Amino acid sequence: PVPVLAVVGRPNVGKSTLVNRIIGRREAVVEDRPGVTRDRVPYDASWNGRAFTVVDTGGWIPDAEGLALNIAAQAEVAVKLADAVLFVVDATVGITDDDEAVVKILRKAKKPVILTANKVDNQQLEAEAYSLWNLGLGEPYPISAAHGRGTGDLLDAVLAVL
Ligand code: GDP
Ligand code: MG
Repeated sequence: PVPVLAVVGRPNVGKSTLVNRIIGRREAVVEDRPGVTRDRVPYDASWNGRAFTVVDTGGWIPDAEGLALNIAAQAEVAVKLADAVLFVVDATVGITDDDEAVVKILRKAKKPVILTANKVDNQQLEAEAYSLWNLGLGEPYPISAAHGRGTGDLLDAVLAVL
């Protein structure tokens, strides 16, 4: 079996856009409106000749209720089944309480976590991304999933722990 990478983070941070970038196809549904991806959706991927499975999840909302609770539960299951976790935050928003809560859950999961700051579409936003060192998850990888900026370095880091 190939290793499994779970992509988690709050709704709307760009998880599905990043998954499409990783698989090189537009199969994951990207939406302006949060909460569109509700399940765990696995895709075949490869990088530098190594095959792996990348799992897109709905947005992880800690302390969620109703439908949001269901989506969050799917993210939790995805992490349990994964060999490593790609945690996505939105550099244009910065760290929210929900992000902090996800970090706590990820620490407990004891899986390798790679932190990436998405929507770093230009150089100015890159400085923003480096404040994410404060999360205590190691080096933050600034990327633009939409434009492909930084995703090669990110995937190198991911494969190193997968
Ligand atoms: P998800 O809910 O985390 O899966 O987020 P989506 O992938 O559906 O994206 C949410 C919104 O963010 C969409 O409008 C995307 O076009 C936008 N988005 C995703 N990646 C980027 C990026 O790198 N830069 C910018 N500016 N927008 C992005
Ligand atoms: Mg999505």
